[in-house]
Amino acid sequence: MSLKRRTILQMIPAVAAMSIAPALRSQASHHVVVVGGGFAGATVAKYIKMWSAADPRVNMRVTLVEPRVAHVSCIMSNLVLNGQLKIRDLSFDYAALQGKYGVEVLQDRVQRISKDGPEIKLKNRGWLAYDSLVVATGIAFDPIEGLDDPRKTPHAWIAGGQTNLLRNQIRDIPERGTFVMSIPDKPYRCPPGPYERACLVADILQRRGSGYRVIVLDANNGIQAEKETFTRAFSELYGDIIDYRPLQRVVGVDQNSNYVHTKILTADGQETGGEDAVYGDVLNIIPRHGAPRLLVNSGLTDGGRWAPVDPTTYGSSLDRFPGVYVIGDSQATGQPKSGHMANAQAKICADAILRRAAGDSLDSDERLDNLTTNSACFSPINASEASWLTAVFRYNRDTGNMGLVPGSLGEAHNWNSENYRDMFSWSENLFADTFK
Ligand SMILES: Cc1cc2nc3c(=O)[nH]c(=O)nc-3n(C[C@H](O)[C@H](O)[C@H](O)COP(=O)(O)OP(=O)(O)OC[C@H]3O[C@@H](n4cnc5c(N)ncnc54)[C@H](O)[C@@H]3O)c2cc1C
Repeated sequence: MSLKRRTILQMIPAVAAMSIAPALRSQASHHVVVVGGGFAGATVAKYIKMWSAADPRVNMRVTLVEPRVAHVSCIMSNLVLNGQLKIRDLSFDYAALQGKYGVEVLQDRVQRISKDGPEIKLKNRGWLAYDSLVVATGIAFDPIEGLDDPRKTPHAWIAGGQTNLLRNQIRDIPERGTFVMSIPDKPYRCPPGPYERACLVADILQRRGSGYRVIVLDANNGIQAEKETFTRAFSELYGDIIDYRPLQRVVGVDQNSNYVHTKILTADGQETGGEDAVYGDVLNIIPRHGAPRLLVNSGLTDGGRWAPVDPTTYGSSLDRFPGVYVIGDSQATGQPKSGHMANAQAKICADAILRRAAGDSLDSDERLDNLTTNSACFSPINASEASWLTAVFRYNRDTGNMGLVPGSLGEAHNWNSENYRDMFSWSENLFADTFK
């Protein structure tokens, strides 16, 4: 059974409805500090306040710490490249979280998570104590040799100024020029996102004339999401422009000569010893991802790339971090790194924190059997047509992990204008559910 498009549009309210309104018993006052106001952090802050307000037996204080005045959504940000959206269309401030739900918002950056007690260090305000800490800081990038100046070579994989910069570089690309982009080793944020970007850039350049090229250097052994759709789009729509090269890992960039240096890999990701150097007039190198340094330095990643968590609560699996939760792209459950997924995880985490604050059970059959998350990505293939991808995950008591629900992996059979319109309804629902 594959999921129908309408089902995707209904998924966000469906997750909210799953919200297992906890039977709260306690009067305890509980301070939750949320670090990062993106899809994961804004959702958890909003839902803890919203759900707890419905029950006078608990008193939840929620403080959201975020350095930016507004979050810029990566979702839909590839449409900034072709001028269909502006960054301001994708910017969400925290006025509703503060005014409507009573979240306290501190514009600040968390520098340290104490290993000695329940407190964090803010850049401008010193130490802040918590009862529960939710870390929702998204991703950081590995360094690449020579890739030192993001003003020259933007990744635009965290939306904002770099997205505008990349748009301008594409606008100014010389006639019959070459755009080179790279895709990092999985797991990375938004599995279909880079292929979507390749299509949109090819669409922009194709409209301009002939002779342009988009070279896609993929460190993986093939297209990672919507394989059928993108394979067809690359050959049927953009066969003259897109040159897709799997198993090429970028290891260096010369920002003066505009050459990208790659190592050629075997199908299982080992280096063959082969190398290549590829010239581009515009370079869009997306480095390999990992959890941000805040998590690595605190020990939350336990020496790995992502933070291990218990997916029934999103609490850290490490005993030394009681009361610390990690949601969104930084965590290591293996579910897709997407904003839709971050929003779903945040609700499970909010529910767990509320139950714990109230002294309620977290492992009732009813709760564990209904523990699901889902992810959806819409991919514009050109300026008026899109495809989509969706997947549902369910908690598996035997493995202790979230497993893909058999038959739930859905993919649009065609890109079309109806999907393109639905993409806006879906994203507006998600934005509203997160930030408004
Ligand atoms: C081009 C593109 C297209 C995408 N399309 C889709 C899509 O169609 N569907 C989908 O579901 N997902 C999509 N995604 C993926 C989605 O954007 C991410 O998975 C999502 O943003 C992850 O949410 P997050 O809350 O974990 O991280 P983020 O949204 O990155 O939020 C992290 C927040 O933490 C803050 N922060 C960082 N460090 C600190 C600190 N030390 N102190 C305080 N705050 C801090 C940051 O400022 C930021 O606001 C796309 C991504 C890209 C790049």
